[in-house]
Amino acid sequence: MTLNPANEAPTAPIPGVPAVRPIQVVQPEAPLVDVMNGAARLQIPCLDHGFVALVDCMPRLVPEGKTGDFAIVQAARVSYGQGTKQVSEDRGLVRYLMRHRHSTPFEMVEFKFHIAMPIFVARQWIRHRTANVNEYSARYSIVPDRFYRPEVDAIRKQSKSNRQGGDEPIEVGTAEEFLHMLERAEALYKDYLQLTEKGVARELARAALPVSVYTEWYWKCDLHNIFHFLSLRMDPHAQLEIQVFAQAMYELLKPIVPIAAEAFEDYRLEAMHLTRLEIDAVRSGKPLATENKREAAEWEAKKVRLGLR
Ligand SMILES: Cc1cc2nc3c(=O)[nH]c(=O)nc-3n(C[C@H](O)[C@H](O)[C@H](O)COP(=O)(O)OP(=O)(O)OC[C@H]3O[C@@H](n4cnc5c(N)ncnc54)[C@H](O)[C@@H]3O)c2cc1C
Repeated sequence: MTLNPANEAPTAPIPGVPAVRPIQVVQPEAPLVDVMNGAARLQIPCLDHGFVALVDCMPRLVPEGKTGDFAIVQAARVSYGQGTKQVSEDRGLVRYLMRHRHSTPFEMVEFKFHIAMPIFVARQWIRHRTANVNEYSARYSIVPDRFYRPEVDAIRKQSKSNRQGGDEPIEVGTAEEFLHMLERAEALYKDYLQLTEKGVARELARAALPVSVYTEWYWKCDLHNIFHFLSLRMDPHAQLEIQVFAQAMYELLKPIVPIAAEAFEDYRLEAMHLTRLEIDAVRSGKPLATENKREAAEWEAKKVRLGLR
């Protein structure tokens, strides 16, 4: 690509519109460095056949001595203009933005991942609507022979307190029975292959495959919405399997935006929201004014974190 496009013949002008003027090339003030250190991808294996791979990001090139946080600060400075002279330190500014939920500067950073995960994890993941996704098509191609089988100690009992989740490991005998059930479901893969070879359309034949089969996609999202995703999916209330992927994603982006990641941990991930009723309870020293047992239990858990019990 030419660095001096002014020498190139201009595109034919649109009648009645002034001709586009030549591109001005502005060289960086400091040498630029690649935040991914020249890597094609940075990858973390997850579960038995999965992975999260960081394949690209924006900004990819930053001035030497800076991190990807640079793009957040750059965007914030355009909105505050001269006003940022007071909050001149990058870290202070990023932390201020995170505390005050001034989110758009974080949207100036983007990450693109290639991910392989079981379909039941993908179903939870796809609910995060702000990402751009391109998934492997099981209409075009044969689904690869990859099925999730949890480790025995990851086969959890249905939780009694949380209807949505499992908690402690189930006894080994039952865990093995469950693994046999998965094996029987995986055995359908042979029939899937045979029937597609006989001509059954791939788009229909896949209907017999279990949701433990792996799928893949490219997933691109901005940092503000990734933090939202991570705050929900790194949370202990999220399913263990998706937590594994969310943790891996966080490990990959953290070194690229260390200041934003630190602010995310301090003000979002490890933070806690207090309701008006909870603030009243702290101020008055009285029990929480609610009849709702779940809300009362949540308050008890928060009090433990606050050192009030
Ligand atoms: C522990 C847990 C349990 C869950 N259980 C269930 C369940 O039982 N059943 C179920 O169906 N789902 C369940 N979900 C999914 C959940 O309800 C959300 O769909 C999912 O977490 C995505 O959240 P989101 O919409 O905030 O995120 P995103 O889709 O990433 O959106 C980010 C933010 O953008 C805004 N936004 C995006 N799209 C729109 C829109 N169209 N209109 C308005 N605002 C928008 C919202 O502010 C939103 O918070 C669960 C999620 C978790 C973490």
